[in-house]
Amino acid sequence: MRVLKETQDDKDVVCHYMERVLHCIFFLGHINKPKISPDKFLPDGQYEPFKAHFPKAFVEYDTHLPRFGPYSILLEYMVNYLKPESPVSLLNKLVAINKSLWIFEDGNTGPSSNDFMASVVAYCCVKDPDSTEVPKMVYGCSMSCKGSVQKEIMIGVSALHVWDRAISYAVYSEDHGPITFPEHVHCYAYNFNTQRAMRPCNNCVKMFVVNFHPEHQAQCHDEKWPYGNCAENESLSRLLQSDQDVRKDICIVGDNGEKLSGREEIEDMFKEKYEETTDKKVRERLAERKFKVGEELIFFTPSYSI
Ligand SMILES: [Zn+2]
Repeated sequence: MRVLKETQDDKDVVCHYMERVLHCIFFLGHINKPKISPDKFLPDGQYEPFKAHFPKAFVEYDTHLPRFGPYSILLEYMVNYLKPESPVSLLNKLVAINKSLWIFEDGNTGPSSNDFMASVVAYCCVKDPDSTEVPKMVYGCSMSCKGSVQKEIMIGVSALHVWDRAISYAVYSEDHGPITFPEHVHCYAYNFNTQRAMRPCNNCVKMFVVNFHPEHQAQCHDEKWPYGNCAENESLSRLLQSDQDVRKDICIVGDNGEKLSGREEIEDMFKEKYEETTDKKVRERLAERKFKVGEELIFFTPSYSI
């Protein structure tokens, strides 16, 4: 990421996000098999300067967890500080960044920036039919890490510590009743690979009843990615965390449209059925990859606060 403006505040903002991105990438390198050490991610001559500038990221990647993947952190920066006027302007900026490769590549042998790019960005909003105001979009991206174990860990950590619990329940309960959103919630997705709007996958329509744009089209194959990988999870989770009306109105409905479970019951079901097993699995996977797991899972806090 480049320093876009010259004030100290802006530099601190960029450093805050850069520090989180570096820590997250080093963490993902550490739990990769084989391990990839921090120096492999930095171009020649840059290891020491980066370490001097962001020392915490270089020592806490095997003891502290990231809350978000690298591309999610970039997306958060873009949304909060560059304040895109519309999804189109944000997507155009992201396409430009994707092309410019914000991680350095080490010839053909080292890790590639592609390993940390998300292929899909989703955005959702509440459209009040009686209002002429442009609805506020809430963004999310797909899991920006490679490897099934890395994804399993990041999805588990997200479900336990980051996402709204209704999203966590949807991800782990799979086919046991989708979460139904209020009728005015709309969800969109864009795929960078095809450079087109993207329909929700089979997993997403099993997890969520919401106005998807474009609509779902039935496919007879299973998805190649796990539940929880999709950009829709992060975007819908952020909507639930930012909009109390939507948050309290989600539910699970039966075949005849009757309400089976409300918000509190859904949270309880995640806690009772999935929380403990997910926590145990995440700890096991982390320990297998030589991440130092203490009594509590600890999260990375950047030294540049904003
Ligand atoms: Zn999906």
